[in-house]
Amino acid sequence: VTVPVSLGDRAYDVHIGVGVIDRLGAGVRDLFPRGRALIVTDEHVAALHLDRAKASLDAAGVRHETIVVPAGEGSKCFTVLEQVMSRLLDFRIERRDAVVALGGGVIGDLAGFAASIAKRGVDFVQVPTTLLSQVDSSVGGKTGINTPQGKNLVGAFHQPRLVLADTGLLETLPRRELLAGYAEVVKYGLLGDAAFFDWLEVHGPALVAGDRAARIEAVRRSVTAKAGIVSRDEKETGERALLNLGHTFGHALEAATGFGQRLLHGEGVAIGMRLAFDLSVDLGLCPGQDAVRARRHMAAVGLPVAPSDIEGAAQLAGELAPDALIHHMAQDKKVKDGKLTFILARRIGEAFITQDVAIDAVERVLRAA
Ligand code: NAD
Ligand code: ZN
Repeated sequence: VTVPVSLGDRAYDVHIGVGVIDRLGAGVRDLFPRGRALIVTDEHVAALHLDRAKASLDAAGVRHETIVVPAGEGSKCFTVLEQVMSRLLDFRIERRDAVVALGGGVIGDLAGFAASIAKRGVDFVQVPTTLLSQVDSSVGGKTGINTPQGKNLVGAFHQPRLVLADTGLLETLPRRELLAGYAEVVKYGLLGDAAFFDWLEVHGPALVAGDRAARIEAVRRSVTAKAGIVSRDEKETGERALLNLGHTFGHALEAATGFGQRLLHGEGVAIGMRLAFDLSVDLGLCPGQDAVRARRHMAAVGLPVAPSDIEGAAQLAGELAPDALIHHMAQDKKVKDGKLTFILARRIGEAFITQDVAIDAVERVLRAA
């Protein structure tokens, strides 16, 4: 299936399905007739899926080079960016060439940012290989790296020319990474599509267990939702912020646990969405039964829904205490004019943005969680 992203002269298509990675060669040849493919990938993905990408390029007669970086969030940094940039320049990258990001969100953000600054901007293609990157980070054009001051504080908006989301590649993804990506799928239901959430309640467990058709359908609906939001608000002046549902709490939990393997981004988002619904109920804005449903579904598929579900939570009691988490929220880039931005819900499928939340309500919800 194909989902178009409508952005005027920068519009592009997202191809979704088992085996769409085999369209890479033809896709690059058609969009970059005289160019090369400069693949950026990580060690895990290179071992599993690089040969297939190269075979597709070879079959289409597209020349290619590959840059492999270490797997993990640590590669979204100036040091690795510099290494990627020098390799791209050593390859004498030109405007007619394509950077190909083959990997999860880390590779998409890093390679996309490298493409945005190489020669003042060259085009790139996303081949997302994690569920998170297929439903979220590969679409919408946000790219960037982390710094000691915080995550994603250095970056650029740079839209890809093509996205190939091969759901077959998810079969090699560790279950925990798959579940973390599933949290972002649930997010689209919770923030704007109650019928999709209903569908996930029925099909989510099979999707997580490996159901191919369910995976394709979930990625299609998620990408359609994201494409719609991005095409209406590319630079996040309004509606796009809804995609941060669960992220104010989630980001604080990630910061409190040191942005490591203890808590994956999507796991933080799952707990964060649960807390955002609790907060909405606490403020009298949302029926309690919707918060229960949201929480129950995420727990049913195996996602964490409370800070106490985090591995080693007992030893982290201080870091996860309400005041410590509120401190992290205050450091967040989502703070505007000194006020915390929250995405709250009126019900499942209807989220809204507010800066009008009293800290004591936040504290109450954290204490009760
Ligand atoms: P990731 O890229 O680190 O991938 C997770 C792990 O899975 C890595 O170890 C990777 O090597 C491995 N992997 C990837 N594909 C695999 C496959 N098919 N089989 C086996 N292993 C595979 O992490 P992620 O969760 O994909 O992305 C997280 C990043 O995305 C964060 O840096 C976050 O900031 C960013 N992000 C960006 C946006 C955006 O709009 N740009 C949105 C959401 C998240
Ligand atoms: Zn996210």
